[in-house]
Amino acid sequence: DDEASVSITVVGASGDLAKKKIFPALFALYYEDCLPKHFSIFGYARSKMTDAELRDMVSRTLTCRIDKRENCSEKMEEFLKRCFYHSGQYDSEADFMELGKKIKQHEGPRVSNRLFYLSIPPNIFLDVVKCASRSASSESGWTRVIVEKPFGRDSESSAALTRGLKQYLVEDQIFRIDHYLGKELVENLSVLRFSNLVFEPLWSRQYIRNVQLIFSEDFGTEGRGGYFDSYGIIRDIMQNHLLQILALFAMETPISLEAEDIRNEKVKVLRSMKPLQLEDVVIGQYKSHTKGGITYPGYTDDKTVPKGSLAPTFAAAALFINNARWDGVPFLMKAGKALHTKQAEIRVQFRHVPGNLYKGAFGTDLDRATNELVIRVQPDEAIYLKINNKIPGLGMRLDRSNLNLHYAARYSKEIPDAYERLLLDAIEGERRLFIRSDELDAAWELFTPLLKELEQKRTAPELYPYGSRGPVGAHYLAAKYNVRWGDLSSED
Ligand code: NAP
Repeated sequence: DDEASVSITVVGASGDLAKKKIFPALFALYYEDCLPKHFSIFGYARSKMTDAELRDMVSRTLTCRIDKRENCSEKMEEFLKRCFYHSGQYDSEADFMELGKKIKQHEGPRVSNRLFYLSIPPNIFLDVVKCASRSASSESGWTRVIVEKPFGRDSESSAALTRGLKQYLVEDQIFRIDHYLGKELVENLSVLRFSNLVFEPLWSRQYIRNVQLIFSEDFGTEGRGGYFDSYGIIRDIMQNHLLQILALFAMETPISLEAEDIRNEKVKVLRSMKPLQLEDVVIGQYKSHTKGGITYPGYTDDKTVPKGSLAPTFAAAALFINNARWDGVPFLMKAGKALHTKQAEIRVQFRHVPGNLYKGAFGTDLDRATNELVIRVQPDEAIYLKINNKIPGLGMRLDRSNLNLHYAARYSKEIPDAYERLLLDAIEGERRLFIRSDELDAAWELFTPLLKELEQKRTAPELYPYGSRGPVGAHYLAAKYNVRWGDLSSED
């Protein structure tokens, strides 16, 4: 057969992301029969390793789906046989030339397609792209490069990175990954909205009072504060993951599901927004807290964090989209580490029912009658709509109930990891879920002035105890726009 070969090189194969996410995702794709017939995987890093050592390292993190256990260990063996390792420097064209030769041996005479996954610190992105494109790119097929965040730290450095990448690659070869876009419920956002009659007509300022995008982790940096400290939560979560979800949520109907059509609409949303204002942002940092006899460390107690660091580990922000659909609707973002829960959700609060016949049933607090649509991205994926309902019985008493789509109960399939979808898309050349450079520029333009102002003024973050709900400032910020965070029917 004359099918092309695909060679996937994981640059930085000795690292954390490669072990935790990339190799397991590649194996899952293999296991699901999604990889092309002729594929090989190469690990590349400076560490010295043999093929056997790489396979041994990789084998420890591979898992099988709960619902598909048969032949799993056989499949693992087959997969590992197609993984190879090449040790080299990141800035050596000669080393990449050797890698290229090794790849060639496995490709044979077939058309060669090559994917490079840059799972390395950002300061060496350009070295690798230069060497790989000059010395190890395909001569007969495509060469694509997946780049992981951070894509710079502000407008200027991001533009410089893009310029640097474009010295060696064209835009079509660059796949900027935002793994939130690969999450099942984020992909489902457009399905929910555009394929159900009941949602799209409500999707505007006329019916939606506010939208909340919430990300929380219930742990701190835990000894991995080095990278985080130089970026902070705004760059790490808000400017990319939450803003991407916002753009997808708020975009106009794209002409089609083609990547460029969707990305065009997302860029329009970002360009319709004003850069963030300092008075619409609250930053926080977690401090040590003792609970049940256990002392949880504060952020600056982490040995990998510089003493006296002002890096925010929490931020809340109010953003507005100045277009006909969303004028005046607050989009509130909240992201934090070391909070009381671990979750990512999109929460839509609808307006009050005008002239509600049943308003007596809710006392003075009409918010308790507000419909809310919640898309729980993780963990325990779900979509639920809070509605008012009559409590069965002879009297007329109402309560709030959920129309609930709980994924675990509805679908017995395990949900693929985001990296699986994104890797498969990159192999297939599907760019819909990757960030185009103009999108990235627009995203940085919204955040750069704020980030600079925070740094110039050395704004001190509000301290909050490890494991708490975050700084109270976030509540005042929401209150300024008449918003309450979270579930309106609960007491907290
Ligand atoms: P990592 O473990 O720190 O680094 C990956 C590999 O790069 C290391 O094994 C090391 O390999 C090499 N390396 C590390 N520091 C280097 C330096 N200063 N100079 C040259 N080489 C260096 O990183 P990671 O956690 O796997 O993440 C990889 C990339 O993905 C990063 O850009 C990160 O920001 C991004 N990312 C990571 C995660 C995550 O969950 N970890 C999530 C999102 C994005 P050798 O020493 O063997 O060459």
